[in-house]
Amino acid sequence: MDVQVARGFIEFYGAGKTIILYESSIVRRRNCIFFLIRDGLNKKLVILHSSSVKVPEGFVSEEEGCFPYGRGKISYAVCPCNNRNASQLRKIFPYIRPQPIGLKPAIGLGDRLGLATPGHIRAVKGFKVFPVLAQQSIREMERTRRSPQEVLDDVSWAVFQEGYRGGFAADADHLKKESDIDAAFAAGFTMYTIDCSDYIDFEADKYDFNILKLKFMDLPWDEMECDRNRFIRLYKRKRIVLHMPNGELRELRFSEEDLFRAAVKFSHAIIFATGMYRRLRRLFGCGRFDFEVSIDETEEPTTPLEHLFLISEFKRFRVKIHGLALRFTGRFEKAIDYIGDLREFEDSLIEHVSISRRFGPYKISVHSGSDKFSIYPILNKLASSMLHLKTSGTSYLESLRIVARHDPNLFREMVKFCLEHFQEDRKSYYVSVDPSLIPSPDNVPDEELEKAFLDNPSGRQVLHVTYGSVLTAGDGGWLFRDRIKRVLLDNEEEFYETVAAHIKKHIGACFIQSAASLGRG
Ligand code: ZN
Repeated sequence: MDVQVARGFIEFYGAGKTIILYESSIVRRRNCIFFLIRDGLNKKLVILHSSSVKVPEGFVSEEEGCFPYGRGKISYAVCPCNNRNASQLRKIFPYIRPQPIGLKPAIGLGDRLGLATPGHIRAVKGFKVFPVLAQQSIREMERTRRSPQEVLDDVSWAVFQEGYRGGFAADADHLKKESDIDAAFAAGFTMYTIDCSDYIDFEADKYDFNILKLKFMDLPWDEMECDRNRFIRLYKRKRIVLHMPNGELRELRFSEEDLFRAAVKFSHAIIFATGMYRRLRRLFGCGRFDFEVSIDETEEPTTPLEHLFLISEFKRFRVKIHGLALRFTGRFEKAIDYIGDLREFEDSLIEHVSISRRFGPYKISVHSGSDKFSIYPILNKLASSMLHLKTSGTSYLESLRIVARHDPNLFREMVKFCLEHFQEDRKSYYVSVDPSLIPSPDNVPDEELEKAFLDNPSGRQVLHVTYGSVLTAGDGGWLFRDRIKRVLLDNEEEFYETVAAHIKKHIGACFIQSAASLGRG
């Protein structure tokens, strides 16, 4: 019945133009019918009601009226998908609000265009994994000129569009300043990932013992809330035996030098993360939030002893951690598979997982986790119940497939632009690509563009790291962003299904299928 009414509205409102009705969004509440439509490139919320029923307060409309339906008339309000209306809609429909994850296994699904979320929602169905549909680092938001509020609103609208009720989280990723927390909190983010890399002393492994000792003595002991001698006694007493799955026992204990190196390397980072945690505690009061600490963007892999030190310190500061993003062995370059020794990766993961089970539990968070297909069987075997896998740029690359297929000339123009901006844009990323391995787009026929640039590791990395330049080029993003958006919306279903299929390959390899979906075979 509600679908009929909605179609009645479309016939009336869309006469002479093409209006898309998102049927899965249709929902009845407070004697009103709510649903989403798309008029050209603009999505709009429609609220239908009889003249005796009032539209819930707080919505702003751009058009109101009534149309004949059956023997009577139905009133309508067409509302823009802006922040004000998203906030009102979140009050009425809790399923479009983000929520804390706790310790459930999760997948982070960043989306730089703000359009891919329906694909993400379709990918997670049938799996025991909690989706973090809004996940954006401060760096990504700066590069795409989107605010935390815009990121979250785009996701709320997409969840409403799909009628998805399974719950999702919002991760303010790689926060480096206290002010980053405030903007994300105001927007309604539920998960906070603190990036400590600016506070780690990367030289600590190289200091000779005398310098190391001086640096250790010089640590800010008042901020560390501990007397130096007590601190030394505390760690010298620590002796942990890890039971490896093969029956082997591995002992972790701190020599004086180990302790000095770990403390000099990480203490400032721990103090910083603790400050961020306490700020969040004050903001949330007794409300729940997810807290992750990341040290993944460092040069050297995190040793098990360093991991033990970090978590022991967070416990000492009473910081409750839901996830820890360590720097693993091997290389996690953007957009391509893992580079490194799989046996070494597995061996170190076993130790890290045992530490997090023993001292948490908290989740092992794997950043730059998209397209790392060779390590997924290992993650699945050792950590699927305590894994947080973060993907981001890969959805953007999948969206470019649609551009390559449907507007080859726009795609070529974009590749040329990316090659020009690559040397500058690569600076803050770990990528080893050689742009000379990329063909000139003018020499590639239409039907081979995808293969040449999106299935080729060098092409993927070039397109991955230049997203910020592409999405902000031209006044108001007209040079590429709006044209990309048009191609994606003109081929909306194909776009969602393409993103969903790719993300599903990640989820299927790392996480467990839910019992219901297994039952369906
Ligand atoms: Zn990271």
